[in-house]
Amino acid sequence: MTNPAQPRPRGDDSPHPPNRLRRHRAPVVGIAGGGQLARMTQQAAIGLGLSLRVLAGSADDSAARAVSDVRVGDDRSLDDLLSFARGCDVVTFDHEHVPGPHIEKLESSGVPCRPGSAALAHAQDKLVMRERLTALGVPCPDYLHLHRRAPLQMLEVFAREHGFPLVLKATRGGYDGKGVWTLDAYDRAAVELIHELLSQDVDLMAEEHVPFTRELAAVVARSPYGQGAAYPIVETVQEGGICTEVISPAPGLPGDVAAEAQRLALTVAAELDVVGLLAVELFETPDGLLVNELAMRPHNSGHWTIEGARTSQFEQHLRAVLDLPLGSTEPTAPYTVMANVLGGDDSDVYSRYIHVMAHDPAVKVHLYGKEPRPGRKIGHVTALGDDLADVRERARHAAAYLRWGTEMNEREGRR
Ligand code: ADP
Repeated sequence: MTNPAQPRPRGDDSPHPPNRLRRHRAPVVGIAGGGQLARMTQQAAIGLGLSLRVLAGSADDSAARAVSDVRVGDDRSLDDLLSFARGCDVVTFDHEHVPGPHIEKLESSGVPCRPGSAALAHAQDKLVMRERLTALGVPCPDYLHLHRRAPLQMLEVFAREHGFPLVLKATRGGYDGKGVWTLDAYDRAAVELIHELLSQDVDLMAEEHVPFTRELAAVVARSPYGQGAAYPIVETVQEGGICTEVISPAPGLPGDVAAEAQRLALTVAAELDVVGLLAVELFETPDGLLVNELAMRPHNSGHWTIEGARTSQFEQHLRAVLDLPLGSTEPTAPYTVMANVLGGDDSDVYSRYIHVMAHDPAVKVHLYGKEPRPGRKIGHVTALGDDLADVRERARHAAAYLRWGTEMNEREGRR
């Protein structure tokens, strides 16, 4: 189901505020970070006739290979950020790792950052996010910050209340399951892990282990004007902490639950003053939905929109950060399935195109120009259609073949 762009009512008493970015030339959008999200945003920028500038760690970064205006530098260095931002009309982000105080400095130097530092703090720090969402009454797993003074005692207290397994999380810096550990018992291994992490200055929180039935994601966009748009709720399939497959719409999800998830994500976007895209990762449980994580940028759970929705998430993010009217989120097919392509045992991915393209001319392949390493996300494939089992099989076959160079069942069955 969709929830098309919802314009805020515009009456005489609520005029559209002057768009600070309105000018006689197409604006320059700066993206801090040169990963695949910035690379795919370039595709959307071409269509819109916008210029992108990317601050990339190296000229080999995924986006640096696709964008003409590349500044090579460190997006954790204030000097590099300030010189990159000079001449950008707005700055946005490819990841969550630009230090908040640096973003505040950019803002105070007059660079519009979207999302802003205050909103982004909730995507950079899981503890800040949990505290804020809990205060807003948004359902989340129970959690406890493990203070450095007495982390083990605090863990014991939390475990007494919730039992094992428990989830241990680094409050900052995690991605793709890095920074998330399941503790099965309060044993020596758990104690050693906690000591080891604390000695590396990793700030930790404990979380109840949620017995979810599946994981869902709500991707929405919000503009400075306050317009919101929600994509259909998707199911995300994770293996070993990495998202491998996204199914749109989430099969069998009741309409009222889907609408509630969209509403929840739009509310979080408005309350946190998010500008741009917001992805809300959710756990579906028999007792309702719980929020796991927030990301304020295009997200893996929205890659399917390139072919599967009227407006891709990358175009939507550009529209939102430029305070343009948002695009339609309407799906282009009854089902769209995106499967991530992970690196296999060798780097010879291109030679596999011939099979994948001949096998299924309708499947779409996106590779990110990244050196394949085992298990690394190097691209994705998308299939669309009206028979979900068939669409899933096509996407999974193409992703597995690009990874292994063999028929899916042969290799994936052996693993
Ligand atoms: P990341 O920063 O890697 O995205 P997440 O918090 O999204 O970390 O966790 C990664 C995965 O770990 C989730 O997709 C989910 O499968 C599992 N997970 C995280 N928190 C919990 C929890 N409280 N209960 C059960 N599983 C969890």
